[in-house]
Amino acid sequence: MPSRNLLKIESMILRKVKSKLETLLLKGKPVSDSIRSGLEPRVKSLNEDGIIPQLAAIIIGDDPASQVYIRNKSRAFDKLDCKSHTYQLEADSNEQDVLVLIDTLNHDEEVHGILIQLPLPGHLDSKTILHAVSPGKDVDGFHPENLGLLLEGNPIFIPCTPHGILEILKYYEISVSGRHAVIVGRSNIVGKPMFALLAQKFEMGNATVTICHTGTKDLTAHTKQADIIIAAAGSPNMITRDMIKAGVDIIDVGINRVNDDSEKGYKLIGDVNTESVMGIANSVTPVPGGVGPMTITMLLVNTVMSAEKNRELIACQS
Ligand code: NAP
Repeated sequence: MPSRNLLKIESMILRKVKSKLETLLLKGKPVSDSIRSGLEPRVKSLNEDGIIPQLAAIIIGDDPASQVYIRNKSRAFDKLDCKSHTYQLEADSNEQDVLVLIDTLNHDEEVHGILIQLPLPGHLDSKTILHAVSPGKDVDGFHPENLGLLLEGNPIFIPCTPHGILEILKYYEISVSGRHAVIVGRSNIVGKPMFALLAQKFEMGNATVTICHTGTKDLTAHTKQADIIIAAAGSPNMITRDMIKAGVDIIDVGINRVNDDSEKGYKLIGDVNTESVMGIANSVTPVPGGVGPMTITMLLVNTVMSAEKNRELIACQS
């Protein structure tokens, strides 16, 4: 017969094992694949009407991460029988040249979406340039008209990364309504539109949302209360196990290059120390392979939608 002490230890171990959650890895690829296959018949129908959804991407300078993104995007568009044309401009291009190109693309009926690759070289004012894109072709959803519609609750083009995050949550059936979401980061491309989406009375919204940034005092006090954390700070491994509560769902948006001894000389890591949250979080997106694959997919979604809207407009006019 085992002693009472031994039984006590056994039951303590059992309880500990049981209390350890099996953290689900929220991979982006299956979500992205399912959305892309849903787009195929829509693109086919457009192609049959002689329309090829077309994106014009403007890239200024030679930022290596931007070049990779643009290459991947072109591949994704080709694969879906959509077109993507890249306008590569010199790093020292002046604002007027960029504005003239945007104006030409705004008036080109074959172009359904215009993307300005960020970050822009320091001498260019991103506000002036982003505002010059026609709101009807603003497939990144960064134009103030589209951001305003999003805040109002009637979005047309939703910024791709936050939109992709909602699709991940939906695919893995992670509830949002009534839960407390804490966003770390308030950029115009991730944090703020994410706030606008999660706070809406939408099916994948209706959350109580807190938005944190470098002015936040005691970040841990906020993240510890979160049912959902969206980490979008661009700060490697900043979210650790001591900053979260058990059962939290974590979306890691961060993509940070850190040097290592691999052949490439670096690896990509997120804003979340994934290893440290395993067993405590209910779920977490991996980096790479989580939010990353979703951004280009949502760009495809917006471009196809823009081409469909254009077809409707032409049908109404004729
Ligand atoms: P960003 O414009 O640099 O904004 C970062 C935000 O995080 C800022 O609001 C900043 O606060 C806040 N922040 C930074 N360090 C913080 C800290 N220690 N504590 C609290 N807040 C902090 O970055 P972004 O463009 O939103 O991108 C964020 C990350 O997501 C980057 O790693 C980027 O590469 C990645 N990203 C990934 C995708 C994707 O497809 N997966 C898409 C876009 C971005 P302040 O406002 O006070 O400065």
